Amino acid sequence: MKKIFVAAVTCFLIASCGNNNQTNTKTETMQSDDSLFDAFKQNFVEDLWKMYPSWASSQGYHKYDSLLVVPNDESRARELAFCKGTSVMLKTLDLSKLSDNNKTDYYMIENQINSTEWAINSFKSYEWNPSNYNICGEFAEMLGNNYDSLDTRLHNFYLKMENIPAYYEAAKKQIKNPTVEHTQLAIDQNLGGASVFETDLNDALKKSHLSTQEKEQITTRAKEAIVAIKDFAAWLKNLKNETPRSFRLGKELYAKKFEYDIQSGYTADEIYQKAIKHKAELHQQMFDITKQLWSKYLSDKKMPENKLEAIKMMIDKLSLHHVKADSFQTAIEHQIPLLVDFIKQKDLIYIDPSKPLVVRKEPAYMAGVAGASISAPGPYDKNGNTYYNVGSLSGWDKEKAESYLREYNYYILQILNIHEAIPGHYTQLVYANQSPSIIKSIFGNGAMVEGWAVYTERMMLESGYGNNEPEMWLMYYKWNLRTTCNTILDYGVHVNNLSKDDALNLLINEAFQQKAEAEGKWKRVSVTQVQLCSYFTGYTEIYDFREELKKKMGDKFNLKQFHEKFLSYGSAPVKYIKTLMLADLDKEKK
Ligand code: ZN
Ligand code: ZN
Repeated sequence: MKKIFVAAVTCFLIASCGNNNQTNTKTETMQSDDSLFDAFKQNFVEDLWKMYPSWASSQGYHKYDSLLVVPNDESRARELAFCKGTSVMLKTLDLSKLSDNNKTDYYMIENQINSTEWAINSFKSYEWNPSNYNICGEFAEMLGNNYDSLDTRLHNFYLKMENIPAYYEAAKKQIKNPTVEHTQLAIDQNLGGASVFETDLNDALKKSHLSTQEKEQITTRAKEAIVAIKDFAAWLKNLKNETPRSFRLGKELYAKKFEYDIQSGYTADEIYQKAIKHKAELHQQMFDITKQLWSKYLSDKKMPENKLEAIKMMIDKLSLHHVKADSFQTAIEHQIPLLVDFIKQKDLIYIDPSKPLVVRKEPAYMAGVAGASISAPGPYDKNGNTYYNVGSLSGWDKEKAESYLREYNYYILQILNIHEAIPGHYTQLVYANQSPSIIKSIFGNGAMVEGWAVYTERMMLESGYGNNEPEMWLMYYKWNLRTTCNTILDYGVHVNNLSKDDALNLLINEAFQQKAEAEGKWKRVSVTQVQLCSYFTGYTEIYDFREELKKKMGDKFNLKQFHEKFLSYGSAPVKYIKTLMLADLDKEKK
């Protein structure tokens, strides 16, 4: 693998030198810088997939499906060599001569490389997070996802299983002083996932056309896989670890991870301060509305002295306004064209009518995670449909369904549709596909993508969606409080040592969440870091940038143009989009 990569490096350097010796006209040089970079990207992605076959499969690239990389010092050394080779190549390129699309791709590759080096040399979760070692999901995907004939998939499944025992033996050697939380997670996930090699595999074998002999070979190897997985779980259970590492990252690691994962123009600390301030503002706005609506909804009750208690009573009352369980999906379907009409009428952003959104009932393999989500085709499946998956409540017991419907009440359901579909995730996706970039498909910036969806919620309400009804605004604030408190929680827990009691108090009493939801959040924050900040960070950056532009441009600012231009850069980090848009503005002025 290493050799192949070195060969690609050499090849590229020669091409690059050749270019510098040419005496082209200016436009031709610009073209060739971009085409050179395009060629580089193609090689880079090919090498990336060779390096990370499991990641490749998850993106719909199936050339290396039969490979399982054993995680050890050697594989990490290969990764570091890959990073080094890539950064050498990047340095040979003249960034200033690239198109905007390629500039952002360049930054994103650079970030990926730096982030990988940092993860290996400093973050070292391969030592303290045993849940990094789990192969069940990728094997399940091979059986469940219909991208090739079942026989071919089973053949690759068989080849890939060969390294499973070596994989878990290597994992044991990597683990040092793990956290209690990640150890437990690894035990649960591995034991839970092992059924892939029993039930799921047996079902698939029955449907296949393989010979009896082939089937036996597969079953024998699967048994060895299960032994390796169970042995790993038992090893973790018995691991002597008297001074386990804390799951809390601490200030230094957190700041760096935030920098690489979010790629924000703000530091983690700045975002945390902004979230604290925003929470206080939201509470004040919510209390003002509560006072205003009190006589309309709760005139028979005395308003509590405590602001937060009063707000909670009003939220509970308004949440009773919801659709019936059996009309949940149709309510969403009816909503979509109304959102499109509103956007047209207010001239907020162009929506391509040739790419309508398909609303469908959540497919069985997704079931369990109720709610709504967007399924977009991956980078290697360009002709695939984009779906809006809506969870069904059929079969739910009455109490659970009622609680869910109150959560996704009449108001929140509309905000959810804005976020997930129009003009949120779905619209952003349509624009991103217009400037196709394999790099942005693979490394797409989560904070930009989520930030955009969260930004559109407020933008729609500010433009008059919901007729400025106070009820709608109150529910919007509650919704927004969730992303705000996610940030406070994440930073609070990992940097400020926030206790579990204080965390639950924040979520239940200050963000008005149900106890079950808050407990789930606590579990999530104790095994993940930084990701919970992406929503609020992206939203804040986009909103602040828009306000800055408004000031700069005065009468010339146009909301529709801002949205279309902003989205035209694809799923790049907001700070780069901002730099490029400001540079364009300067050019226009001259
Ligand atoms: Zn009800
Ligand atoms: Zn989202």
